[in-house]
Amino acid sequence: MIMHIDMDAFFASIEQQINPCLKGKPVIVGSRDKKYRTVVAAASYEAKAYGITSGMPSHEAFKICPHAEFVACDCARYTYVSHGIFNLLEEFSPFVDHATIDEFDLDIRGLEPIFGPPLELGKTIKKRIREAFGLGCSIGIAPTWILAKLGTKIRKPDGLVLINEANSDALFHGLPVEKICGIGPALTACLAGMGILTCDQLKTAPEDILVANFGQTVGHWLYQALRTDENLTYRKGKTDTTELPKSIGHSYTLPAEIYDQNIVFSWLRMLSEMVAQRARKNNCLGKTISLWINSRNESFIRQKTSSIPTNDGWEIFMRSKAIFGQKKGIFRPARALGVTLSSLVFDETPPLLFEQKRREALLMAQDKINAKYGDWTISPAVLARILPK
Ligand SMILES: [Mg+2]
Repeated sequence: MIMHIDMDAFFASIEQQINPCLKGKPVIVGSRDKKYRTVVAAASYEAKAYGITSGMPSHEAFKICPHAEFVACDCARYTYVSHGIFNLLEEFSPFVDHATIDEFDLDIRGLEPIFGPPLELGKTIKKRIREAFGLGCSIGIAPTWILAKLGTKIRKPDGLVLINEANSDALFHGLPVEKICGIGPALTACLAGMGILTCDQLKTAPEDILVANFGQTVGHWLYQALRTDENLTYRKGKTDTTELPKSIGHSYTLPAEIYDQNIVFSWLRMLSEMVAQRARKNNCLGKTISLWINSRNESFIRQKTSSIPTNDGWEIFMRSKAIFGQKKGIFRPARALGVTLSSLVFDETPPLLFEQKRREALLMAQDKINAKYGDWTISPAVLARILPK
């Protein structure tokens, strides 16, 4: 059995917990400190009641609910709380997985003699999290990870749902298919075209029809998604740190439209540095660089693979700048941009050339200093233009 724990309105609830004046009020956590020029990173349940959702531009959110309270995102704080919850969960099972900053997976097989039946354990965990952090969460328990995650969405907030063969039909009845993790708007639309709108309809759809419509991989996946046999279970135990990520990327929505190309390059330099640091943390290098830049009515996205993999921020920056150089036409004021490093390989070969050795030692020293004294303690000089003083 897998237990999936999803914190309720995590960022907003933490802010309400820290500042009691915000309790019971619609709260919008912005991804940046500009109230009207940001994106909603999280909304409290009081704000959600107005129809505010994360990802929405904040000026739209304030149109719907002008009296909402605004708080700028404090990622360090949320990460800190998230680690605290992780540590608490480790008291229950040695197999805890950090799915996202506010979601956790627990392999709960074999815990019954110690903590009682799964629902009992769920109650205990909810109580402990509430006592220690003042936060609510929703818990799904099921034989497979997909079902456990679905379980958290059935009675949110403060839900606790166990899905098994006996009750699954009743729970799936009338539940929209897009609640299933992995079914997005496109798949939902296709399924709707086949008359499949709800989970109970999907569960009774014949496999051959799903495969005929969606191909072997997706069709079979759809057929399996709601089944309770354990063959879809993954994410057992701690994240394997020897596993290579697929890609490492960072993006940023600029505080305003930027007309100065050099400032855009400064942001690009910063994102390249962030990507590089994460690649080094994961002990990997990447060959492919993807760059995207959004302007008011144009978006540019392109990637390039070179034979030499890198995790050096300067190199990633130079390669993305070269990609940008292929862009035709005049420079348009940029609104958002992102850099991604992919085709990742493990960093195994020690540096051969003297210059390489020096460069690597420099980056290692930089990472060490920044880890000790805080991000950007040592950073490329061009970032002085954009980093707060
Ligand atoms: Mg959540």
